[in-house]
Amino acid sequence: MRFLDLSAISDADKQACEAIARDAGVNLKDCYQCGKCTAGCPLAESMDLVPREVIRYLQLGAVDVVLEAKTPWICAQCVVCSSRCPQNVDICSVMRAVRLASKHAGKRPVPEADIFDDEFIANVRAHGVSNEQYLAAAYNVKSGHFVQDMGNATRMLKRGMVGVAMHNTKGRANVAALVDRALAADSTRRAQADEGKGGEA
Ligand code: SF4
Ligand code: SF4
Repeated sequence: MRFLDLSAISDADKQACEAIARDAGVNLKDCYQCGKCTAGCPLAESMDLVPREVIRYLQLGAVDVVLEAKTPWICAQCVVCSSRCPQNVDICSVMRAVRLASKHAGKRPVPEADIFDDEFIANVRAHGVSNEQYLAAAYNVKSGHFVQDMGNATRMLKRGMVGVAMHNTKGRANVAALVDRALAADSTRRAQADEGKGGEA
């Protein structure tokens, strides 16, 4: 944990943390900081705040610390933390809610993760399936990592592991509708959390 000036935390900061908890459907008071979530997280060593700390900062109302953390953007949503929590705190869902709130606040602590998300969703929405060669190309251009897959791409093309054909599923219109519904549900849930509706917190 880093030094935190608790006197600088405003009521608005605390409300923003409560909104994140509502969006995630968790009660922050349930966490007693045992650390089992962190012990099981396969990515904890790469995180700037371990899962237990994310919950602790939310409990304290330190919303800026949480929204600027890289952790929720590194989180693989594997659900190990949530499954290990003796208090049934759905930390995995908290990570998703923090990420959404962070994006909503115009922060992108790991811009590459945000670019990849957007490109993946656009790819699936357009074709009903992820065309990974085009996803990788779009991601590399938009993230500025122009040549990072060049060597692998050449080898994979030669071995027929990827091709240039764009694949579309028959039901891609249905997939697009599902994606739109999921994105709209995210926005609605987020707005309701900001208004103090829904969840358990
Ligand atoms: S496992 Fe649950 S109770 Fe323990 S620190 Fe993590 S969130 Fe809190
Ligand atoms: S869901 Fe995220 S925070 Fe939880 S264990 Fe997996 S990677 Fe770690």
